[in-house]
Amino acid sequence: LAAKKQHDLVIVGAGPGGYVAAIKAAQLGFDVACVEKRGRAGGTCLNVGCIPSKALLNNSHLYHQMKHDSKQRGIDINGDVAINMAQFQKAKDTCVKQLTGGIEMLFKKNGVTYYKGLGSFESENSIKVLPVEGIEGSIKEETLLEAKNIIIATGSEVTPFPGIKIDEERIVSSTGALELKEVPNRLAIIGGGIIGLEMGSVYSRLGSKVTVVEFQPKIGATMDNEVATTTQKFLKKQGFDFKLGTKVVSAERNGEIVNIEVENVKSGKKESLEADVLLVAVGRRPYVQGLNCEALGLEVDKRGRLVIDEQFNTKYPHIKVIGDVTFGPMLAHKAEEEGIAAVEYLKHGHGHVNYANIPSVMYSHPEVAWVGKTEEQLKEDGISYKIGKFPFMANSRAKTNMDTEGFVKILIDAETERLLGAHIVGPNAGEMIAEAGLALEYGASAEDIARVCHAHPTLSEAFKEANLAAFSKSINF
Ligand code: FAD
Repeated sequence: LAAKKQHDLVIVGAGPGGYVAAIKAAQLGFDVACVEKRGRAGGTCLNVGCIPSKALLNNSHLYHQMKHDSKQRGIDINGDVAINMAQFQKAKDTCVKQLTGGIEMLFKKNGVTYYKGLGSFESENSIKVLPVEGIEGSIKEETLLEAKNIIIATGSEVTPFPGIKIDEERIVSSTGALELKEVPNRLAIIGGGIIGLEMGSVYSRLGSKVTVVEFQPKIGATMDNEVATTTQKFLKKQGFDFKLGTKVVSAERNGEIVNIEVENVKSGKKESLEADVLLVAVGRRPYVQGLNCEALGLEVDKRGRLVIDEQFNTKYPHIKVIGDVTFGPMLAHKAEEEGIAAVEYLKHGHGHVNYANIPSVMYSHPEVAWVGKTEEQLKEDGISYKIGKFPFMANSRAKTNMDTEGFVKILIDAETERLLGAHIVGPNAGEMIAEAGLALEYGASAEDIARVCHAHPTLSEAFKEANLAAFSKSINF
């Protein structure tokens, strides 16, 4: 017989959606439990996504700068600058451990009950939790959690490529790419989206020859076209090879190498590629395996996403869904916002996520960040707009940092001059985009932004100047 427990709210999944929802719910006075089959909290993001990738990106960037950029900065390094792969990976693992452990501490501090085990629907008001072998701290016995409310936050998994077998050694997903023990001489990547280009950046800096094969004629999927072209140019300069408008026909491991057959979509021209490691990065898909939502007849769309209304409700108003497993961009901060809003709906009957204001960031160097509409979207929507641009070449802080690639591009409504979109390719773009988000949320015009005093010398002055350029003229360019 299963042990029985009762809670106001049970959340399945402790990723950015689930763990944030759990803490918020506890803060709002709910008796809340969170169920996680991985053991370690933090989901994809902290364990095999955002966090480990950023650790590798940061340290590979430092290495690259020391190795190739130090002399001109007046730093002579006597002796070789070399990568110690074991320590490089260990440094990443240390941050992951600290941050995932931190969530468990936050659970304790806020009074969230944490069940490490596999959750599945027993009924519309109960979740059965099964022990999971091999995870530290797994519950010992099957436990039945009865709950007034349930939030599904089970996230996503790597989308497989038909016919290509991932062994996480020579043919890897992003998870395997985060764990490589050696720097491959040749790294081929299927998919020129953010994840592929970030992992490509890591290994390119460490010395790999990176080839990206992308079906679309551009990289960066939803990036503004001009920004995507500029970014591609920068990555090319760093040594990336791009095969755009090209589809992968097959890929096979042969001993220690991978043979890849590709075909140009337009011309039909075929080509054979060879790589030491192939990264398959064609996207992620919603994950509901083992959850038994079929038993409740929860609706799933063609792309595998759990279907919800605008208050995150399934056909049962007490069963809500948030994060990667449902609609919207698969981003950690989007899942977090939904976690907060879903819990606020439960408590107050209202919550808020502005889907028109969710930033995207690619943590390459230079970084790429955008929020709001792209030029292509504005054209499609028939909205008249004006553009303001400012290059980092003319920004004093970028100059002092000897890091001047890229620009800020601002799109404003032609008539009202209200900010519609911001697109930045440049140093620290990911930090700077927050200012654009704030402006967008509060309906600021380019002049509103340009009249705000920005500290000098900072990169964010480029954002101010681009706004100035959008409705008038920039000062420094
Ligand atoms: P997840 O984080 O996927 O969490 C879901 C959790 O539910 C998992 O831990 C899973 O084990 C658990 N679970 C599933 N089913 C069950 C069950 N039946 N019982 C118990 N537990 C269950 N996003 C960004 O915003 N910025 C980035 O820089 C970024 N970088 C990324 C880099 C990589 C390499 C990858 C792969 C992803 C990256 N993402 C990034 C995306 C980000 O990781 C996801 O959008 C985010 O983790 C989604 O959060 P979530 O809570 O919806 O789901």
